[in-house]
Amino acid sequence: MLHDFFIKEQLKSCVSGAVLFDEPLDRYTSMGVGGPADALVVPQSMEELVQLVRFLRKENIPFLTLGNGTNLIVRDGGCRGVVVALRGLQKLSWASDPEGKIRVQAEAGVPLASIVQLCIKESLAGLEFCTGIPGSVGGAVRMNAGAFGREMKDVVTAITVLNEHLELETLSRRELSFEYRRLNLSDEAVIVCAEFALCPGERESISAEISEILALRKSKHPLNFRNAGSIFKNPRNLPAGQLIEETGLKGTRRGDAMISEKHGNFIVNLGHARAADVVDLIEEIKGRVENCRAIQLEAEVHIVGEDG
Ligand SMILES: Cc1cc2nc3c(=O)[nH]c(=O)nc-3n(C[C@H](O)[C@H](O)[C@H](O)COP(=O)(O)OP(=O)(O)OC[C@H]3O[C@@H](n4cnc5c(N)ncnc54)[C@H](O)[C@@H]3O)c2cc1C
Repeated sequence: MLHDFFIKEQLKSCVSGAVLFDEPLDRYTSMGVGGPADALVVPQSMEELVQLVRFLRKENIPFLTLGNGTNLIVRDGGCRGVVVALRGLQKLSWASDPEGKIRVQAEAGVPLASIVQLCIKESLAGLEFCTGIPGSVGGAVRMNAGAFGREMKDVVTAITVLNEHLELETLSRRELSFEYRRLNLSDEAVIVCAEFALCPGERESISAEISEILALRKSKHPLNFRNAGSIFKNPRNLPAGQLIEETGLKGTRRGDAMISEKHGNFIVNLGHARAADVVDLIEEIKGRVENCRAIQLEAEVHIVGEDG
């Protein structure tokens, strides 16, 4: 699709960051699987992002927005069109508001981990639950990421999106409709920045909670192998991991992909897994849980791209 010399040159002129052709995407996903993108482009500012997306839409080139790739399975044939990687959008600032809250503004590419670090440094409470979630701000808002009973929807006060009409639009919390692991937003919209309302807190108790969460995650999750976090959403408040454990599938392998022995809702990459192996295991789990418990599991991970 992107063999045209003119298109390639235009892509390079849209951004000051990297423009890589036939770029393997396994390097950009936490699961470590995925074939090449026709092009992977890294805008370095909101202005470059706008210019790039306007060009892609004008030329009818499909694109996929990429945060930290920690909730993505890219198939082995890779992605046609352009992968727009937002890791260059890294502005982070904060200020007190008249009500005594602290408003944190973060561009889409800021890792949640950086905000958690900021919370420790500045003694800000409210985002501790994000500890150990390896996503970016944009990906976390898009996924309504959450843990321990809290979600992005509880702390986000506004977001700015590049909407389907190619305008930058700020939406307040009232205008946002969050669901379990999902923000209802046009598939074409790109989240460019988000604002969070946090409270002044005590550094020691914030640090203590963060350490506790890290220890809990380490004890429950198979963090020594590449993975994409929870593969399935929890149906009707039943833990998907428990349902999978009951089917006896833990430890099942396809190539180098394995349903974790430690946590049934994780698939781990033991080394050289292919996306097809991971997707096979996902289908196997769905079929088995449906047969055993008459429950249809829904994937939490987003599966994109073409088969190899
Ligand atoms: C070890 C581990 C632990 C995890 N624990 C949790 C957890 O406790 N809770 C939880 O909710 N998740 C968890 N996850 C999953 C994942 O980290 C979160 O869903 C995270 O929010 C995804 O962010 P990301 O930047 O990696 O998104 P990506 O994987 O890059 O993208 C996810 C989806 O969002 C879209 N997207 C990304 N950025 C934007 C943007 N700026 N605008 C519009 N769309 C965008 C992508 O196109 C894709 O469809 C875990 C993952 C791992 C590997």
